[in-house]
Amino acid sequence: MSDLPRIYQPKPRDVAASTDLERDFAGLNVEQQRAVVHPGGPLLIVAGAGTGKTRTLVHRVAHLIEGGVAPERILLLTFTRRAAQEMLSRAERLVGAASARVHGGTFHGTANRLLRRYGPSAGLPSDFTILDQADAEDLMQFARAAAGPGKPHEKRFPKKETLHWLYSRHVNTEIPLETLLGDELPAFVEHEPAIRAVLREYTRRKAERNLLDYDDLLLSWAMLLERGGELADRMAALYDHVLVDEYQDTNALQARILRGMVGRGGAPANLTVVGDDAQSIYSFRGATVRNILDFPRDFGGATLVALEQNYRSTPAILDVSNAVMAKASEGFRKALWTSRTGGERPWLVTARDEPQQTRFIADRILELYEEGIALSGMAVLVRAGFMSADLEIELQRRGIPFDKWGGLKFLEAAHVKDVLAFLRILENPRDEVSWYRILLLMPGIGEATARSAVEAMSAGAWAPAAFRHFAPPARAQAAHRALAALLDSLRETVAVGDGVGGAVGLEIARVRTLYDELLREKYDRPEARLADLDQLQTIASGYPDRASFLTAIALEPPQATQDLAQGEDGPDDALVISTIHSAKGREWDVVFMPWAVDGYLPLARSLATPEGAEEERRLCYVALTRARHQLYVTYPLNAYATRRGADYSLDQVSRYLDRDVRELMLRVALGDDDRPARDDAPVRAPIDLRALLGGRF
Ligand code: ATP
Ligand code: MG
Repeated sequence: MSDLPRIYQPKPRDVAASTDLERDFAGLNVEQQRAVVHPGGPLLIVAGAGTGKTRTLVHRVAHLIEGGVAPERILLLTFTRRAAQEMLSRAERLVGAASARVHGGTFHGTANRLLRRYGPSAGLPSDFTILDQADAEDLMQFARAAAGPGKPHEKRFPKKETLHWLYSRHVNTEIPLETLLGDELPAFVEHEPAIRAVLREYTRRKAERNLLDYDDLLLSWAMLLERGGELADRMAALYDHVLVDEYQDTNALQARILRGMVGRGGAPANLTVVGDDAQSIYSFRGATVRNILDFPRDFGGATLVALEQNYRSTPAILDVSNAVMAKASEGFRKALWTSRTGGERPWLVTARDEPQQTRFIADRILELYEEGIALSGMAVLVRAGFMSADLEIELQRRGIPFDKWGGLKFLEAAHVKDVLAFLRILENPRDEVSWYRILLLMPGIGEATARSAVEAMSAGAWAPAAFRHFAPPARAQAAHRALAALLDSLRETVAVGDGVGGAVGLEIARVRTLYDELLREKYDRPEARLADLDQLQTIASGYPDRASFLTAIALEPPQATQDLAQGEDGPDDALVISTIHSAKGREWDVVFMPWAVDGYLPLARSLATPEGAEEERRLCYVALTRARHQLYVTYPLNAYATRRGADYSLDQVSRYLDRDVRELMLRVALGDDDRPARDDAPVRAPIDLRALLGGRF
């Protein structure tokens, strides 16, 4: 320990700021201090959640500036631009305005900046246009039409989204195309030559039109560096220090970029990366913990710092989080500890069904708010966006403001609005907007036909017959017939079956006999969208009639775009509903994690591979470790999900909350009056069929 610096030596020139810096530095623990003052060369900080990784990185930036490194020669890379800004504003509190000159941002943002400046010397025009995801997919559509297999085989050929996904995955993971096809899209293996031709065409069109997609930004940056020569040297000489947060969620291409940016020409590789292998949750985007594992190999002489003291959560919350990770199959073992004391055990709340789970969360949020906890100090974290649908409707009904991170608010998703449009025209046949929406969904019906159909209905006083008798052009006839038949069947009184749910749920089921097919045709992987519609159907079944359902969900005026709504731009004090993915790196006083059931966490479709199941465990860990003071994990005992027309029950508590974990929690059951009470009944654990059958498999 003798080599560890204990006293920080601020420079005299900025007295006020340096005092802050000194005081703050003294508040860091010895390991954190060691990372902050690390002189140079590769540094890997591997540490668990809430151990101050991000805070250490901020301090290191401040320390470098204070030590005389020019701020503009520091590059700070993080997962979102917003996170970078937040880190730099924290650095500003330590060392003053100079920190604003630090280059902070995402890999993509930085690539864009560098390519505009250095690209022209390598033949890349500086005025390239960036294609966003939707634009890129549209361009892929043109490439598909030009170079794809042509008419008779077209239907069996991957859709534009799939082709784009494939291209992107290939670029980011460097996995050969044939391997990706074989592993992920076996149905399309036979089309490999045609797929290659389409991807070539896509690349050609981008070059010809001076377009770069998101992946090209990273790829071009890596290639410029790897080509070597004077230009690569100039780019690599831009920064004396590069720092990366959330390194566990970077991919192979990003690691290549870092290798090119530091340590050129024998200079020390002044690269600091910070990550937690237990929080690696982006493998679907090609991220890999290998980057962390290989760091010492890739950057010789790396110093390793491990942080184990957690400053975020109460001991009771940490115990539960540690217990979930204790059963992980691989990874650096880290047992987090804290010097904090007190705090209530996390609650494990069983509700009778989804509506009761929803009421519990909404009630509790209001109670805590009355006790003085700001709404913005609370978050509800879900595995997938659709799982908060019922809660969103309830919050809207009670007037509790919320922001949603990571995905659209449920009621704003296009496919949910599509299905609601059908209910709306049943309720109000004069709802022109909904008519247009529906008509334009149908194959063969374009703007002109939609307009004349609406005019015909208006002329016919919006009677059902007016649509039936409308005579569309030939190519729209099949669509018109299908739609008219569906609307007729919807207008028949819907008979409510035994226990199947209310009439509105059945109406949605009928709409879906037509609509699901449209979704499937539009997307190769419609599962998430179909799951949203299952959820909508379930929720609607709880309402006595269509009118009360539509009134309950009547949309409020549209809010600021979701991306901006991350906190500041939404209402002043708002609860956060977030996917677990979008919550990484964040913390709240109170965290709710609903739907802790097998099938939703882990998500059923992630269980196809052992790696998928392990990533779900890490997601569970990320969610639990967001909580500072209070944690509520909830699940309904009786819930049904509809998948592909079949109901299955979601009544087993999540496998990650096994007996050892549950013993660390306060078990609570909600009574008929919604009141929470201690629960001592045995938990229904997942049945392990394999064990029962005694090694038969
Ligand atoms: P995650 O893995 O979730 O990204 P992290 O390791 O980056 O977490 P931080 O967000 O940096 O952790 O810190 C977690 C909390 O602990 C923050 O509120 C931070 O201010 C606080 N903290 C970190 N280090 C210390 C310390 N030495 N003393 C007191 N509080 C600290
Ligand atoms: Mg962090």
